[in-house]
Amino acid sequence: MTNKTFCVVCKRDDASVIDMQPHLVRCLQCGAYEIMAIEYLQMTNQEQDPLLSAWIRNRTEEQASPPLLTSSTWISLRASLRIPNLREKQAALMKAFARRSMFPGTVGRYNPVADFPLAWAANEGELRFLKQDLIARQLLDNEYTMGGSFLITAKGWDYLDSIPAGGVFSDQVFVAMSFSDTMRTAWTSAIIPAVRQAGYTPYRVDAAPHIDRIDHKIMVEIKASRFLIADVTEQRAGVYFEAGYALGQELPVIWAVREDDLKNVHFDTRQYAHIVWKNERELEKGIYETIVAVIGRGKSH
Ligand SMILES: [Zn+2]
Repeated sequence: MTNKTFCVVCKRDDASVIDMQPHLVRCLQCGAYEIMAIEYLQMTNQEQDPLLSAWIRNRTEEQASPPLLTSSTWISLRASLRIPNLREKQAALMKAFARRSMFPGTVGRYNPVADFPLAWAANEGELRFLKQDLIARQLLDNEYTMGGSFLITAKGWDYLDSIPAGGVFSDQVFVAMSFSDTMRTAWTSAIIPAVRQAGYTPYRVDAAPHIDRIDHKIMVEIKASRFLIADVTEQRAGVYFEAGYALGQELPVIWAVREDDLKNVHFDTRQYAHIVWKNERELEKGIYETIVAVIGRGKSH
């Protein structure tokens, strides 16, 4: 059954809630999230949180599954989310506008009072400020951008092409590898520490509980990542599929393989430089050094 409710994140009173356990809340401003009934009561007293609102809204926009909000995830999210800078906010807004444009040259629509989290803005006023500057930079059309309408200029579409793929300020790194027991320490003792050391957050699809169909989840998470690490040891088809999908999304891919399996690397991808490793220490060093040299250091940790 659907009822009107109070959103614990932004405090709007017109969100809808589906009364199941956990509750599924849909808010015009924050998007979709799940929350347990008991936590809901506790969190009504929390302060309004624009950054969390933006994080949930952008996940909803990327069609990721609704996050389960608990008082502890709330605290850890608050600690880990950083406020994007002005350019990052504008890039996020331009991407959201691009998704709402049928094709170049058409005027798009958005909701100025509820869509500001798409730009990671704190409120309507900040969204207006970001938009005015995009008009001044001639990325949005001066004449057609007003109220709830916008028009991306040709220069704006060029600008959109120049934004790196993946989440604009995502620190997530998608790791594609075999999930076998023999590869477990490569993940826990080499890849996780190397990625964290370089300032990013490693993500492996089996490490996150979810109920999505696995293929859809994988594609959403790859798109939300800054780059992908493909360790092809044990030659799993899924690893090649995920690396190919990332390349199609123009995400950088870092390739790795254990030395004894190098001869088995697929013919089509042998042209790419691989980190060839004999033990976890070499893999960790290789991954860390390649990230810093090829991608650059991340901002977290
Ligand atoms: Zn809300």
